[in-house]
Amino acid sequence: MDNVIAIDGPAASGKSTIANQVAQRLGIYYINTGNMYRGATLLALENNITSETPSEKELEKLASDNQITYEKDKSGKLVLTINGKEADLDKIRSPEVTLYVSVISKSNAIRNWLVREQRKMTSLGYILMEGRDIGTNVFPNARYKFFLTASPEIRAIRRLSQGGETPKNATVASVARDIALRDELDSKRAIAPLRKADDAILLDSSHLSIDEVLNKIMTLLRENYDLTKK
Ligand code: C5P
Repeated sequence: MDNVIAIDGPAASGKSTIANQVAQRLGIYYINTGNMYRGATLLALENNITSETPSEKELEKLASDNQITYEKDKSGKLVLTINGKEADLDKIRSPEVTLYVSVISKSNAIRNWLVREQRKMTSLGYILMEGRDIGTNVFPNARYKFFLTASPEIRAIRRLSQGGETPKNATVASVARDIALRDELDSKRAIAPLRKADDAILLDSSHLSIDEVLNKIMTLLRENYDLTKK
């Protein structure tokens, strides 16, 4: 078994907020793999790759020419780095990157590159990793697996209220459409699609507050989680 807590789920399901807080409470590192795919997408856009069907050859070159990982900064905090420099989170969560990320994350070259980096991160000790394929593909032997979801309307309302990723003139309907499109691309792709692992615990937060979901996860972990494995 890998000393990993895997949290997967569709776009805007509250994964990041919850994952961050669970990791803080347990005192372990939190890795957001969506930000790594977003980093790769930003690099693609900066290299003028904008096609809906980019060639694997150019994405292989992007993967071999660049480095995306999580590293400890001077204060010991884990930060996403692109070619050794701390990533600009506003840029990687921009509407432009958000609209294109599901195209880039379909690529075998991109996934091989980033999954390889993700698997190395167990060297940091016990980790909490969040994404789409952590429980099914990156760490199928993770000690704990959760799959977080919520209804499309609730997710659109939550995402719109956070701002940042959504275009300026966005409405609940337009955000719901963008999220549905991204979920469809993520769950229908050939490699490591968005899917609940058979042994993951399903949590639907449509009618629960963030705190209620957090408490549910903490209760489940407290019953089973062995801190000596850290
Ligand atoms: O989690 P977030 O919504 O920021 O993820 C952005 C995109 O990155 C997803 O829509 C998906 O295309 C891709 N992704 C992925 N596999 C992961 C995490 C994210 O394909 N493990």
